[in-house]
Amino acid sequence: MATAYTWHPRVDLNHSVWPRTQPIMEDELLTSWLVRTALAHGCSPLALTSIIWPKWRALSCDLDRGLSSDRASSLASLAGCSVSEVSNCCLDSIAEAISERPIGKATWPWILVRGNRNLRSAAGLQLCPLCFAEGPPYYRISGRLAWHFSCPRHQVWLIDRCPNCWTSLQPQRLLPPDQDCGACHLCGYRFALSPVESTCESDMLFQQAADECLSGHCVAGSQLMTTADWFLWARMVQSFIRCASLHPTQSISAILRDLGVQMLATSPSGLALEALAVRERAELLAQTWKVMSFDHEILAQVFRAHALSRSALPLPRGCHAPSSISGILEALQSGASRHRKSGAGLHGVPNVAKAWARLQRKFSRDG
Ligand SMILES: [Zn+2]
Ligand SMILES: [Zn+2]
Repeated sequence: MATAYTWHPRVDLNHSVWPRTQPIMEDELLTSWLVRTALAHGCSPLALTSIIWPKWRALSCDLDRGLSSDRASSLASLAGCSVSEVSNCCLDSIAEAISERPIGKATWPWILVRGNRNLRSAAGLQLCPLCFAEGPPYYRISGRLAWHFSCPRHQVWLIDRCPNCWTSLQPQRLLPPDQDCGACHLCGYRFALSPVESTCESDMLFQQAADECLSGHCVAGSQLMTTADWFLWARMVQSFIRCASLHPTQSISAILRDLGVQMLATSPSGLALEALAVRERAELLAQTWKVMSFDHEILAQVFRAHALSRSALPLPRGCHAPSSISGILEALQSGASRHRKSGAGLHGVPNVAKAWARLQRKFSRDG
C-alpha cells in the first residue's frame, strides 16, 4: 500500500482573536475548519463568515476553490495564522498543477462540483466514516478530488451522502447546538456510525497512480509524463471509455476486448466526471486505468489494427495534444482532430438518464 499523499500539516492557532478557534487539522478543507470554529463558539457558520467578510456572502460560493489575497489576509489576521496556511486549505493550487489549461470560473477538471445555491450544495464532498470515528471529525482536501473514492488509511469506500436521509453532505448548514462536523445537517445522523464497505486493491489503482503523479512520479504505461499531461491523457481515456460504453461499434468492442477493458455496467448518466457519484466514478476510472497502464506502443498497435478514429479520443476544448502521447495519436485514423467539451460525446445519452441524474442532484441539495 502506497503512503497516502498529504497536502498540508496540522496548524495550531494560539494567537487568534477568537477564544475557541479550532486548530486546522492535517489536510483539512477551509470550509470544514470555518464550520468547526463557528460551532465551537456557539454560532452559525454564516454568522462567523459575515464577521470575517461583512460585504460578501462567502458560503454561497465554493470557498474551498480559493480566496483572493485580500480575503485570505482578513481571515489570517483574525485567526492568527499566515495567508499561506489559509491558502493551503484551498484547492486552487492543486487545480492549477493538474489542469491542462488556465482554470476559470466553470467546472475545474478533477475537482468535484458542489453545485451551490445560496447555502445549499448538490454534491461534491466525500468523507470516510472510520476517519470521522477516530478523532475530531473534519472534511479533507482529498474528499473534493474526483479520483478519490476510497480512504487510503482504512481502505473503505468514501460516502458522499447521508446514509440515513440520502441528502448530500453540507456541513456549512450545521447549526448550534451541534459542536462539530460529525453529523448530517438535516437529520442529525452521526456519520461515524455509517456502515462501511472495504475496497479491494484493484479499486484503488487509479487513485494511487494519480496521487503518485502529484508527488512527481507521473507514469502511464512505461511513459514518463508531466503532471498536467498525465491528467489530460486520463481525461481523454475516460471520455473514450464512456463513449465506447454508449456506442459500442464493432471496432471499439474489439479494442476493448483486446485490452481486457469492460464496458461500464451502469449506463453513463451524461454528467461530467466531476459531478458523478462515488461508485460511478470508481467504475469509470478503474477501466480508465486498465487502458492507461498499457505500454503506448501496444496501444498504438491495437488502435491501428482496428482503425480507431481520431475523434474517439477527443482532446478537451482548448487543449493541445501532449508530445508524450504523439505515438498513440499518430496511430489513429486521420480526420479532423475534434475538440470536445468534457462529457461531450455523450449526446446520445437518453434524455431520461440525464434528467434523472440531474434531478437526483437537485433533490440532494434541496432536500
Ligand atoms: Zn479513513
Ligand atoms: Zn441525514
